Amino acid sequence: MLQLDPPTLLLANLLVGLTLVLVVMSTRVGLGSGARGMRSWLAGDVVLLTGQAVIAIDAVDFGRLLAIPPLTLSSGLVTAGIALHLVGIHRHVRPAGSALRRVLPYAIAFGLGLFVAVGSLLTAEPAYRVMLLHVVLVAMLVVTIARELVPVRRFFGVRILMAAMGFAVVANVLLLIGAAVRPGEVLKGAMPGLLINMVMTMLTTSAFVLWLQEELRETLRRAAHTDLLTGVLNRYGVLPQLRRELARTARQGTPLSVALCDIDHFKNINDTQGHAAGDSALQAFSSALLRHVRASDLVARWGGEEFLLVLPDTDAAHAKAALERMQVRMAVEAQASGGVTFSVGIASTTDGAATDIDALLARADRRLYAAKATRNTVVAD
Ligand code: GH3
Ligand code: MG
Ligand code: MG
Repeated sequence: MLQLDPPTLLLANLLVGLTLVLVVMSTRVGLGSGARGMRSWLAGDVVLLTGQAVIAIDAVDFGRLLAIPPLTLSSGLVTAGIALHLVGIHRHVRPAGSALRRVLPYAIAFGLGLFVAVGSLLTAEPAYRVMLLHVVLVAMLVVTIARELVPVRRFFGVRILMAAMGFAVVANVLLLIGAAVRPGEVLKGAMPGLLINMVMTMLTTSAFVLWLQEELRETLRRAAHTDLLTGVLNRYGVLPQLRRELARTARQGTPLSVALCDIDHFKNINDTQGHAAGDSALQAFSSALLRHVRASDLVARWGGEEFLLVLPDTDAAHAKAALERMQVRMAVEAQASGGVTFSVGIASTTDGAATDIDALLARADRRLYAAKATRNTVVAD
């Protein structure tokens, strides 16, 4: 049988606390602005582990060290600690705007801790005190899982967090039922409970850290693949997708076309209206491209005032017709499209030559050059 003696658990609790503080602090530095909510989480770790230490301190029997009954103090601290973790999650998902929204979650966390502590101080019956603690914990956990975690469950860290919190909900419900059925036995087994709480604190903290790291990686990846000015894909964003589409095309025997679009006389806008007007025209132009392509098409800024369209399941003739239609529509919209005309070179996997990605793009580029002879035209072969 496992011997869980309180002094050892107290020491383990302290070491776990120090380790978590170190891990969370160093991760915060690494995550930079992606670490939103981590300070609240760290505060939760410290308060939670202090609450757990109180139970062990009491069991070691140092004599009456604490003025407040230890279980009352511990219930309050554990409630406040878990609430602070949930504040961390809330903070991370919904960055605080106003001062009130910044302070309110902390007030609620400590308010709940105080509520449980005072509530258990007022009830002489230990079973009621334990029940009060479990009801508050279950309510907080369920609300947080449903409101904050379910929408971001694509992250593995969030799924671990949800599993751990789901386990805590089930455990608390069982303990609640136990306290209701056998009120006399609620105080037994505090040490195994302490051990489980320690493991849960480590597990949930690691999961929180993992989630924030995954999210930062996703943010950086998206930023690296997006053109800052127009918000469409950049060259590095579109190339892997084009490669994937080409492989699919080869597999399924379907056509694919690429269209290089270059704005005509764009330099004139910069020269006559200034660089800011040029930037606005680029933004309007890329929005218009996005509006006029199919949902399955890709729009990317290839560089400067040149954009690449990837048109899956479209042969050269259909691509040419689609681009000519876009030229007409965008001319009609004029200002909403940046007030420019553009020339297009199209290359397709079905127009005979090799379908190697570089060869395809080089062909589109040559045809764009040909289109520039007249401008405002589409050249497809
Ligand atoms: P053409 O009809 O032959 O394509 O003439 P053009 O003036 O459109 O082409 P050219 O290559 O001579 O000029 C492109 C201009 O696009 C030059 C460059 O300063 C401008 N440009 C490139 N990137 C940006 C940008 O991000 N913002 C602004 N405002 N201008 C840009
Ligand atoms: Mg141009
Ligand atoms: Mg150009």
